[in-house]
Amino acid sequence: MEKGLYLVISGPSGVGKDTVAKKLGGWISVSATSRGIRDGEEEGVNYFYHSREEMEALIARGELLEYTLYNGEYYGTPLQPIRDHFANGELVILVIEVEGAANVKKAIPDAVTVFIMPPSMEELRERLINRKTETAEQVEGRMQIAVREMEIGKTEYDYIVVNQEIEQAVSDILKIVEEEKKRR
Ligand code: 5GP
Repeated sequence: MEKGLYLVISGPSGVGKDTVAKKLGGWISVSATSRGIRDGEEEGVNYFYHSREEMEALIARGELLEYTLYNGEYYGTPLQPIRDHFANGELVILVIEVEGAANVKKAIPDAVTVFIMPPSMEELRERLINRKTETAEQVEGRMQIAVREMEIGKTEYDYIVVNQEIEQAVSDILKIVEEEKKRR
């Protein structure tokens, strides 16, 4: 059977990484988090929502491949599902932030990492404001995180893809996946 591929996607909040990831046709890992559920989100679809204590228990039991504290909340990747889907020969997609991506790369050196950049910082701020899921203060918090993340993105990832246009970004990433599969 064909082997699977681990694809880690990061990018600043608002860059459109979830939209791009959904169009790749792989299996997308559902993370566990302690952050509150947003309007339009669903348990088990966007995240598995837990209390902080539950997240700490998952970490203590070693049930997460990696985890991080982001904006004061826990986020982590459940280990067993990604193993199962990889064993099944699937493209396993992790949409996670930069620290988590670095930890995945340490644990799974074969994982392919892609950082998605916005066309510009102004465009990113506009997208964050327009999606109306954060307060003005939260938007500024996310912009500050974005600046730091993009510095890391420029140096620490295998590939950088600019999300100027969604279909183009999707096809760029699919090309990367095909090339990486050939190399193995
Ligand atoms: P949001 O609150 O906007 O859904 O996610 C905040 C950040 O956490 C995003 O950059 C998202 O990619 C990242 N994230 C989501 N799940 C995980 C995870 O399981 N592990 C890590 N390290 N980051 C995650």
